[in-house]
Amino acid sequence: MRIAILKETAPGEARVAATPETVKKFTALGATVAIEEGAGAAASYPDEAYREAGAEVLPTARAVADADIVLGIQAPPVMALAGAKKGAWVAASFDPFRQQELVADYAKGGFEALAMELMPRITRAQSMDVLSSQSNLAGYKAVLTAANVYGRAFPMMMTAAGTVQAARVFVMGVGVAGLQAIATAKRLGAQVSATDVRSATKEQIQSLGAKPVFVENVAGIEGEGAGGYATEMSEEYQKAQAELVSNHIAKQDIVITTALIPGRAAPRLMSDAQITTMKPGSVIFDLAVAQGGNVEGSSPDEVVEKHGVKIVGYTNTAGHLAADASALFARNLFNFLNAFWDKDEGRPVLDEEIGDAIRLTRDGAVVHPKLAS
Ligand code: NAD
Repeated sequence: MRIAILKETAPGEARVAATPETVKKFTALGATVAIEEGAGAAASYPDEAYREAGAEVLPTARAVADADIVLGIQAPPVMALAGAKKGAWVAASFDPFRQQELVADYAKGGFEALAMELMPRITRAQSMDVLSSQSNLAGYKAVLTAANVYGRAFPMMMTAAGTVQAARVFVMGVGVAGLQAIATAKRLGAQVSATDVRSATKEQIQSLGAKPVFVENVAGIEGEGAGGYATEMSEEYQKAQAELVSNHIAKQDIVITTALIPGRAAPRLMSDAQITTMKPGSVIFDLAVAQGGNVEGSSPDEVVEKHGVKIVGYTNTAGHLAADASALFARNLFNFLNAFWDKDEGRPVLDEEIGDAIRLTRDGAVVHPKLAS
């Protein structure tokens, strides 16, 4: 089994899909690992560390030559896979609903595309879940970035010159990123409140010592919904949510929005009119900016100032913590292949539950049920 890791080519992508630690682990399974020169440099993993861990460090074309499996953070363009074995697996994030052309290219190229972001949310797959590992870091970084842009302090400070009031932070969307954002803002000493459409999050918010702010007069999503994900809400709910948010955000200094709905554009949670009610100097971090944005006027990788409020959002928030984000992503990939490693065959063999959930293409065709039609 030859496993190849290429240097990421997407603009601004500093992460890498293998670390010296996972190289060692793959080697212990009996695989050979080839990594492109400089692939880990932006994430602070030098070529030398990969070599010491047992990898072959090679120029692009030679790194991918004869690969049975290619690992990536963002799936490489098919062109970059020239020389890999026929039917080679490529395990990476594909953003498959928005990148259908890329998926079609993989089918044409005869590769087996395995979309890590489609990993089912079942207990045994938790350690393979790249969305969780990256969202957790993103939630943390969103709060730190907002704190950095904010012209005031987060904690209450009682000084001889007078008292500095604690910042008020409101987190909208309490999934993996939102929970970490709450925890981080609390650690920095802010007064934190949070909301979600899933009522199951109320207790989680309280257990982190934050205040839940929920639409009470219209039903939200009871329990967890399919795979724990949210769906699009009724118009009535959206109206009630807008009213609730309008009243609440006028008193907030920082708003962190994290709301996503799988396979759709991010729901709009804050309008320009609502932003006008916030105090000048307030900061909004829109974690969903790359998926269309929760906040009107947010723009990827820019600080937009509207009505004295700064709106921030990164295309790739976890990528701003490239070393840790790579370490966790690389472990997710290792955990995935290791869980299915067939010792007798010396290669991974997927089962139906996980294989069918993440496989986009095989034998020249797009095979994922959500894409094939
Ligand atoms: P996500 O990134 O899809 O969405 C972020 C949050 O936004 C979610 O909590 C969602 O309910 C919320 N949201 C959507 N529309 C909204 C709206 N209009 N207003 C306010 N909030 C809105 O979510 P996620 O971080 O992937 O987590 C979703 C759930 O899955 C969580 O309960 C999480 O604990 C669970 N989970 C389970 C596993 C597992 O079992 N393997 C792994 C990861 C996460």
